[in-house]
Amino acid sequence: MKHTDYGTNIGLLKTTRGIVLIDPMPGNENLDVLNNAVKDLVDGPVKFILNTHEHSDHSGGNAYFIKKGSTLLYDVTKIKEIHGFLVESHTTEDKVFFHQKSNSIFVGDIYDTSWHPTFYSGGLSGFRKAIEAILKLGNDDSIIVPGHGKPTRKSELRAFRKNTLDWVSRVRKLKNDGMTAIEIKNDAQINIILDKFNLEDKADFIPEKAFIWFIERTLTVIDKDV
Ligand SMILES: [Zn+2]
Repeated sequence: MKHTDYGTNIGLLKTTRGIVLIDPMPGNENLDVLNNAVKDLVDGPVKFILNTHEHSDHSGGNAYFIKKGSTLLYDVTKIKEIHGFLVESHTTEDKVFFHQKSNSIFVGDIYDTSWHPTFYSGGLSGFRKAIEAILKLGNDDSIIVPGHGKPTRKSELRAFRKNTLDWVSRVRKLKNDGMTAIEIKNDAQINIILDKFNLEDKADFIPEKAFIWFIERTLTVIDKDV
């Protein structure tokens, strides 16, 4: 995979404590480009780095900025303009950051508008709680920044929640009917639901292998949730 393929959404916020960068992706070439973009957009260096979760596509650029004098911040309460909290959905420690001034909410991979949902750590209950907590922030004009894919308003996040719940209940039903992952993959309803995650209308949205993997991971989560 080329570094340019991460497609990670990166946040850049001005605060009274200095410039804050959210989720720098790995790859020195990209990071040089990012660093130049930051210099064009804001005065002064990146003071703090925040990560929505520890996966390398969201934290792989930490070291690059730490070398330039930035500090990786675990405790976001040190910046009063950013409200942050922990949930468990995509990983055991998903962080949500709400910047009231720009009315933007950074939610990492709890939400993805370019891929299927990945609620593999928290299962369905963790996913529900995480989305519920996000929807309580801000207002209907808030911008929800997913880990990957285009940012949206809350209405699309609500649709994402509905589609995810529909997906899980359909997989659960087919599992109870005795179907294997491969058989579930061929179910018409399952394909319709999967397609609802394809907000960018990509011709080749989810490769077959990833589709089966998503079903298998969902089955694991269903087992865990019961
Ligand atoms: Zn990611």
